[in-house]
Amino acid sequence: MALVNECFLSLPGNYLFSEINKKVNTFSLQHPDAKLIRMGIGDVTKPLAKAVIDAMHQAVVEMSDAKTFRGYGPEQGYRFLIEKIIEIDFRSRGVTVQPEEVFISDGCKSDMGNIGGLFAKENVVAVTDPVYPVYVDSNVMDGRGGGTSASGMWKNIVYLPCIKENDFIPALPEKPVDIIYLCFPNNPTGTTLTKPELKKWVDYALETGALILFDAAYEAFIAEEDVPHSIFEIEGAENCAIEFRSFSKTAGFTGIRCGYTVVPKKVAARTGTGKKIFLNALWNRRQTTKFNGVSYITQRAAEAVYSDEGMRQCKENIAYYMKNAAIVRDGLKHMGLEAFGGINAPYIWFKTPENIDSWTFFDRMLKEIHVIGTPGVGFGPSGEGCLRLTAFGSREDTVAAMERFQSWSI
Ligand code: PLP
Repeated sequence: MALVNECFLSLPGNYLFSEINKKVNTFSLQHPDAKLIRMGIGDVTKPLAKAVIDAMHQAVVEMSDAKTFRGYGPEQGYRFLIEKIIEIDFRSRGVTVQPEEVFISDGCKSDMGNIGGLFAKENVVAVTDPVYPVYVDSNVMDGRGGGTSASGMWKNIVYLPCIKENDFIPALPEKPVDIIYLCFPNNPTGTTLTKPELKKWVDYALETGALILFDAAYEAFIAEEDVPHSIFEIEGAENCAIEFRSFSKTAGFTGIRCGYTVVPKKVAARTGTGKKIFLNALWNRRQTTKFNGVSYITQRAAEAVYSDEGMRQCKENIAYYMKNAAIVRDGLKHMGLEAFGGINAPYIWFKTPENIDSWTFFDRMLKEIHVIGTPGVGFGPSGEGCLRLTAFGSREDTVAAMERFQSWSI
């Protein structure tokens, strides 16, 4: 009989959102008339931009004719999309990226989960806390968790608290680490780092030889000037960082699936004997073996995101969500709650009154005002006493949710 990878068995059985769904389903069965407002899971609600739909239709027409039909494509992605990414996401910000450094994928989650396959079990991984759960769970699957302590934290993972007391700016690790996950604008806290703050991390990585895995899935939501859209805007980052991007929230592709990863040619790790290994070649080897590439139709859709019309339409949707974010943030603050984020990211993070724990407050919100949030502690121990609300709902639901908050005697 085959032996399983026992690292999987050490993961907690319930993924955060399954636990939430279970509670919500039980409540719905008992209260079928309750009109629930879902501000928990971070999925978009607006349909795809017309420019994207038109491009997909056109690509389908091409697929129906032998002269323009496409079969297997390059695993790394089509040049037409890669060129657009380089021009609009990077060159326009003064960043040089080469076509061979861009890998198109079916999304950021897959790449952030799969990248761990390039690294040895012995690496010490650091994550900000609270954190998007994929970073921690995928490292545990790869054997880098080291078992949990009584507090539920993984013994071999270094947690870097991002809390109100440090303005959600993580401090540099106190002990040596090899791989650092950074996500800015941040899910779940909705907060960001300025260029000088991110520079500290790049300088630290260059000094210590650590690798930064930078998740920029929410860069399109940045509104403030001094917030970097890419880690490669910081000098030297091309020597120490890999960046992950997604069309999911930028352009409503959560159902279509497309993202990309930039692995600069200069970024390296080492073997046990100290030999330098460039990660671009390693990732290329991994992708060409284990990944089939993204469909032609999807890549044409992603290309259309960069057309004038596509950019205008996607920006309109982002502006709509960010107006929701402002309504939520202002609404919570008006009630005297401490709320963060929602300016450069579609998430609002708030502290519960009187330090009520996250799950108790989640239950009360569900039962008393029928609004669903996400308990902060589900993202890590530093999230205890907080909840996350998303701005991805309709305007009507967002306004109605805030009205329920206002008339609620907590
Ligand atoms: N990274 C972060 C921080 C996210 O919040 C999400 C989705 O919620 C993703 C990545 C996933 O992106 P994708 O849909 O491209 O897999």
